[in-house]
Amino acid sequence: MLGSFKHKLAVYFLLLAVAPLTAAFWGFGTVTKHAEERRADSRLEAELRAVFASYERQANHVEALARNLAGRRDVQRGLRLGSFGRLPRDVAVLGPHRLVVGLRGTIESTQTVRVKAGRRVIGSILAVLPLDRSLLRHLHSESGLARGDRIVFVPRSKPDRPAPQPVASGRPLAVSVAGTRYRALATRPLGEQPDVQIAVLAPAEPIEAEVAATRRHLLYVLLGALLVLAAIAAAEARSVMRSVRELASTADAIGRGRLDRRVPVRGRDEFADLAGSFNSMADQLRTRLVELELQRTRLRESLSRTGELLTATHDVDQLLTLIASAAVEAADAEGAVLLGEDGAVVEVGTLADDAKTFELPIATSDSRFGILILYAAELDEDNLLATRALVAQGANALENAKLHEAAARQARSDGLTGLANRRHCEEHLLAEVTRSERYETPLAVVLSDIDEFKAANDTYGHAFGDLVLQRFADVLRETLRDIDVSSRWGGEEFLVVLPGTTLEGAVEAAERIRTAFAALELAAGDATTRMTASFGVASFVAGVDPLQLVRAADEALYEAKRRGKNRVRAAVETVAAER
Ligand code: GH3
Ligand code: MG
Ligand code: MG
Repeated sequence: MLGSFKHKLAVYFLLLAVAPLTAAFWGFGTVTKHAEERRADSRLEAELRAVFASYERQANHVEALARNLAGRRDVQRGLRLGSFGRLPRDVAVLGPHRLVVGLRGTIESTQTVRVKAGRRVIGSILAVLPLDRSLLRHLHSESGLARGDRIVFVPRSKPDRPAPQPVASGRPLAVSVAGTRYRALATRPLGEQPDVQIAVLAPAEPIEAEVAATRRHLLYVLLGALLVLAAIAAAEARSVMRSVRELASTADAIGRGRLDRRVPVRGRDEFADLAGSFNSMADQLRTRLVELELQRTRLRESLSRTGELLTATHDVDQLLTLIASAAVEAADAEGAVLLGEDGAVVEVGTLADDAKTFELPIATSDSRFGILILYAAELDEDNLLATRALVAQGANALENAKLHEAAARQARSDGLTGLANRRHCEEHLLAEVTRSERYETPLAVVLSDIDEFKAANDTYGHAFGDLVLQRFADVLRETLRDIDVSSRWGGEEFLVVLPGTTLEGAVEAAERIRTAFAALELAAGDATTRMTASFGVASFVAGVDPLQLVRAADEALYEAKRRGKNRVRAAVETVAAER
């Protein structure tokens, strides 16, 4: 994986440390080589100067011999005459007018001294210095060469260049003699012999060895520096990598829900800053999450509380108020108005004019119950979702209340007439009796029975009988107050409970019913007919129970029948049971 951070760090290290060190090594190596060569060259130059000086002393010595000879009268005479007597040792005749002083060699340095008589040249003396081994030895011993350095005479086959002025003829050269490499510096051509030079040779190997040793030292130093750098870089890289890995693994752990994980903060560098920032981010994340969880729990609790409340009651008004206030809470709105289908209006909170409004219909798939208008500055998407769920729950509760109400009504009422059935009426009567007993308010009942009902049934059929029962019920509903409860007591008998009504009031009411019913035109086949009913009225007295009250009314009814029907009879007295 070449793209990894670790590898990148290694590449940076190579670029930043190895490349400059390599360049430094190369540069220092070159400088060292040049310095070493310059040192050798200056030594060569000094040696060459010494050798040349020694050589010149020798050459001057021979020349002095020649001059000395030239000054001698016998030599001058000999040169003039072209014949010589006895000549000193080392002097030989070269021609009729030429002498030579010094030993001849294979290669030699010569100087010619002209011998004059007055202004006339009478001959010449050639001063010869043989460039041989013994001269080499002499030069060597006189000039004190370094160990290993050598002196050689170099005959020049082609004197192509003019002789330069300084001792050395130019820059030192690298030469190879009998398989050994030297660094050589030569003198200018010697004496009259332009084709011989003296050269000093220094073996190249020690110089190179010195350069190599210096380079080796340099290499060791640089390698050492590189090692130290590499160790520091590796330690730094390890620390960086550790920080990066810790960050990555902690971020991963937090991502997997371990919100308590934190990155260790070491030192005071940028990584420490990063770790610090990371940790504070993790802290904030955890705080936010705890808050969120708390909020969710609150919402859940509030929803379930509302849900419980919604199912706890079947009171529609109470439900509408509950839905409106719970919706305001869930939506975090400022207020709401709920417009019920049946015209009910519920207002909750504040309904600011400048607030935005959001309309939520309250409906199930079967029924519409109204519309909820939320007033809020802004409505959060999540809250809106929760509110919708709550309103849907509310609509279900309203639907339940509706069904419950229908079932309850059914359980209380008589199927044919829609009036309360006997059981419900008994319960109601008990409640009213209890209330009259406690508050000493009047209470009366009217028991009625349709006259000749059997005969009508027999004459016009059972359906007619049913119609008569329904029309009688209609008369009761039309004639009585809302607080009065009418019930089908059984067959063609009806009991009406009249709270707050005295015996006289009840007789009046019974009379109104009787008259209204008797006036009814009842369709019987193609013709119409009229029916009548008889009424027995009784009023509550303290200590009477519902049964006794109805019995008193029944006795009065019986009396009405007995007296010719189609009339109202009041009970003479309502008698409490003997206890
Ligand atoms: P009276 O004038 O003395 O009250 O005589 P009546 O015939 O009205 O009284 P009776 O008690 O002898 O007859 C009651 C009849 O009412 C008996 C029954 O067939 C009839 N009946 C009872 N319940 C119903 C009903 O729900 N529908 C119909 N069509 N008839 C019913
Ligand atoms: Mg009857
Ligand atoms: Mg009857």
